Amino acid sequence: MNQESKVAIVTGASRGIGKACAIELAKTGYTVIINYASNDDAANAVVKSITDNGGQAKAIKCDVSDSVSVKCMIDTVMNEFKRIDVLVNNAGITKDGLFIRMSDEDWLKVINTNLNSVFYVTKPVVKIMMKQRIGTIINISSICGVYGNAGQANYSSAKAGIIGFTKSLAKEIAARNITVNAIAPGFIETDMTSGLETEKIVANIPLGRLGKPEDIAQTVKFLVTSGSYITGQVIGVDGGLVI
Ligand code: NAD
Repeated sequence: MNQESKVAIVTGASRGIGKACAIELAKTGYTVIINYASNDDAANAVVKSITDNGGQAKAIKCDVSDSVSVKCMIDTVMNEFKRIDVLVNNAGITKDGLFIRMSDEDWLKVINTNLNSVFYVTKPVVKIMMKQRIGTIINISSICGVYGNAGQANYSSAKAGIIGFTKSLAKEIAARNITVNAIAPGFIETDMTSGLETEKIVANIPLGRLGKPEDIAQTVKFLVTSGSYITGQVIGVDGGLVI
């Protein structure tokens, strides 16, 4: 593998938005680390689709809600590639339910996977980027983190936490030439939204369609290739759902 190219890590990249981001970053010339939690076949298929198109990628299995595993993943990346230029904190889950019926378990699982993971992954990566004096961090939040959503108190809290984290970290590390931004997707067609009744949702989207994972991937590409003077922002990619 060419160890000269720049390196991007995408968490939760075996499907959906993470997969689209990984493919787009590989097209842009990055060696992409496909982080995934459990599905070896899906992660290997993403690597294959990138390498078949002349790109470079490596799959690393790691539960990003576990700080010890995350440390191992980052050590593996540094041993092999010596640098990390882009981090896309994308891994996420939902455990929806009305607040009064929400179990401690569903609250903690969502906070651990969606928010604590961002802390665990970003911390060692920032240390590396600070030494490099360059880096791009993109956190995948949600419109729910900005506007809230009934039935998603846990998820909305995690996604709002990501926004506070993004703004604070952006201020802390801007002097080291590291940008930190959040993307707040609306409704994107992935496994996460596959159970929703889309007709009513689409009726409220001014652009008249659900988003595609590629819509988020294009925004990631924009931030990575043209966003060097953008930091601490929350970029809505929602077809105008919230204006
Ligand atoms: P998805 O369920 O298709 O993909 C999520 C990915 O995260 C999966 O590959 C999953 O295996 C991975 N993941 C989950 N827990 C993990 C863990 N502990 N360690 C490593 N990987 C883990 O969903 P998606 O729609 O592609 O969502 C991607 C991100 O975008 C999530 O953070 C989600 O909250 C956010 N988002 C999605 C939408 C939407 O409409 N689809 C809207 C707003 C925000």
